[in-house]
Amino acid sequence: MFSNWCWHEPFQLVIDAGEGLQLALGQKIWAPAVIALTHGHSDHVLGLPGFVASRRFAKGAQEKPLTIVFPEGNSGVLAVRELLARMWPAADFPVTWAPMQASGEFRLGKSRILQAFATSHGSSEPTLGYAVLEERRRLKPEYGGLPEPEIRALVREGGRETLMEAYRHVRFAHTGDAMPIDPALVAGADLLVHDATFLDAGDRKWDIHATTNEALEVGRAAGVGCLVLHHLSIRYDRAAALPALRAQAASSGFAGECWLLDEGRLIDLKQPHG
Ligand SMILES: [Zn+2]
Repeated sequence: MFSNWCWHEPFQLVIDAGEGLQLALGQKIWAPAVIALTHGHSDHVLGLPGFVASRRFAKGAQEKPLTIVFPEGNSGVLAVRELLARMWPAADFPVTWAPMQASGEFRLGKSRILQAFATSHGSSEPTLGYAVLEERRRLKPEYGGLPEPEIRALVREGGRETLMEAYRHVRFAHTGDAMPIDPALVAGADLLVHDATFLDAGDRKWDIHATTNEALEVGRAAGVGCLVLHHLSIRYDRAAALPALRAQAASSGFAGECWLLDEGRLIDLKQPHG
């Protein structure tokens, strides 16, 4: 309700670091390798000092490196960075701060890349969303329709590599707080977490957050496999909001899985009582 963070365990990746992050992770506090901050609003960064300090001073993997990726020049993030330095002036944190601009990339591993994209969150400060891209190889489209014997002949002639091309597949993307993003940024994503603050565009005063219908439309247009709506405003009584949201999901034309992330719980919007 008052704090935002998302722990993607398979990629050892945390998006945003609102208050309570360290408490919620418990013993898993030493697991994350990267924290990617979408912007510097307090409900997205104030968990960072506690998280970093606990990892540095509590019994555990105190030397484990941590990279904090953040929108370059974001003053909220820089204030938290300065707070850490001033609270523990004698401490040397095993932290790398990695400023990022839109389209910037940070390598997560051998075949995975964290790529930033610009978001619109009604602020003059830079704000970013993130996508985890996986480098893959596939048959070049011009060979796609050929019968199997012809493909085999071409492989014998020129080698398998001449028929293949590299591409990047979006495994996971997170918008942070944002107006609807360009679906092209997350085309074919396995999993998209999208801001979905308002059930009705009429409830939106400033262009800062997306509506649930806008998020569903991004999911539909991008052909996302699984869409997670997050940040639903606390103004909505959940008992009334859930049936409305399920009706929106059903009529949206979005064919994938659809969940609401609410108070740390995932609620299936494609099931009547999921
Ligand atoms: Zn915000």
